Amino acid sequence: MIQHSGKRLSEESIRCSLLTVKTKQKLWVLIAMMPFTLLAQKQTNLPLEHLDRSFHVYDQIQKEIWATPELGFLETKSSNTLQKHLQEQGFKVETGMAGMPTSFIATYGSGKPVIGILAEFDALPRLSQDTVAYQKPIEEGGSGHGCGHNLLGTGGVAGAVAIKEWLDATNRQGTIKVFGSPAEEGGGGKVYLARDGFFKGVDVVMDWHPGTRNIVNVGNGYTAVQMVDYTFHGKASHAAGSPHNGRSALDGVEALNYMVNMLREHIPSASRIHYVITHGGDAPNVVPELATVSYYIRHPNRDALKDLVAWVDQAAEGAALGTQTTVEREIISGFYEKLPNRTLAELIQKNLEAVGGVQYDDRERAFAVQMTEQLGVKPSVLDRVAAIQPLPEERPSTGGGSTDVGDVSWNVPTIGFDTASFIPGSSAHSWHWTAAGGTTIGTKALINAAKVFALTAIDLYTTPSLIEEAWEEFESRRGPDFKYEPLLGDRDPALNYQVRK
Ligand SMILES: [Zn+2]
Repeated sequence: MIQHSGKRLSEESIRCSLLTVKTKQKLWVLIAMMPFTLLAQKQTNLPLEHLDRSFHVYDQIQKEIWATPELGFLETKSSNTLQKHLQEQGFKVETGMAGMPTSFIATYGSGKPVIGILAEFDALPRLSQDTVAYQKPIEEGGSGHGCGHNLLGTGGVAGAVAIKEWLDATNRQGTIKVFGSPAEEGGGGKVYLARDGFFKGVDVVMDWHPGTRNIVNVGNGYTAVQMVDYTFHGKASHAAGSPHNGRSALDGVEALNYMVNMLREHIPSASRIHYVITHGGDAPNVVPELATVSYYIRHPNRDALKDLVAWVDQAAEGAALGTQTTVEREIISGFYEKLPNRTLAELIQKNLEAVGGVQYDDRERAFAVQMTEQLGVKPSVLDRVAAIQPLPEERPSTGGGSTDVGDVSWNVPTIGFDTASFIPGSSAHSWHWTAAGGTTIGTKALINAAKVFALTAIDLYTTPSLIEEAWEEFESRRGPDFKYEPLLGDRDPALNYQVRK
């Protein structure tokens, strides 16, 4: 029984007074905590404000890389630009990792947790384009940033620097690492970094890709891939004077391609096989002594992929036998499919929503509207860049592209997302992407990505149970018997894979 001023209180008034006491206690706790809450909020805002203030810095860096498009493993200037900025910001930068001259790892802070951010910077052949809404190459046949890796690398670096600002301001223990990863477009820089153990000791890896929406990448639609070159050797001869003395290496290539096109009917539907003949001979009147065909073979599951590759190998042997040529096979690269992580996906979703979408100014909007006319889509699609997509459900891949982030995701819990860097309706590896990526639209998207990195890193540094949860999920998805065996075997990085074309 509770007595108050000698009077017995009704049940209701007791509840009320108890509530009042509790509320008062809560209020006092809140008031007492206020300086700390305000301080924490202020500290969380610090990296975001830093990024807003640094817009022009990263605008300049991304445009510098955009204006110097370099192909995979040849990205000396682009890599140096990012390294230089990180060094100026106090990061320790090591270069030339895993036998790749343009790779680097930049580290700031100390101790656990260790958070990694991936940074790419390679361009694509023949996608040179000016920042205008109609096709206009800057250099006819030249390279261009048709996949937005100028933004990707710069956004990763901007995020890491913002995280450094927060580590400094809060005196927290923790390490941030930027993985300068060359040659994502077919060279597989990250696979060599993973194979050589550079992700060991990293707790979480974050990654983003410039896209046409703001959306968490839960791993849907990615496939494992094996890139293989088949080189046939024949015997040169005058194609008209003594054809019977020659054996055509190009015949070997054509027989292989023919057989592959027949086997398509009998392989799992999510498979993808595509090829280009990178060398087919020199002149029609010379029986080709040497011919090479370059294959990408893909399947959402890497075990099924191995069976497919074995079948194409058999076809190559059969083609050589039937044309009396010989064939050599060289694995150029190979990537794992992506391993999803729901714990991290939900965390990124929260922070993507906190940061919000991309807001165009009048000039950017005019460019974007012109681009929609080029693309034949309604200008209303532009509303998408300001919106955040709901967190997608995971579903089995029905085929699609591949990324060397796949290998990272099987070594460390990894999560990625897109921000709206390009005009909705445009496709990757197009002049439309090169054009938009070189404007402030691209910079706005990379600053948003950097903010998501910063907010997520703060969550991971301040709530280590999130890392434990991500690891539990990671271990359970990989299975107890998992052993990482890269699909590219023990080969050295194919440093000249873009030169030989
Ligand atoms: Zn890309």
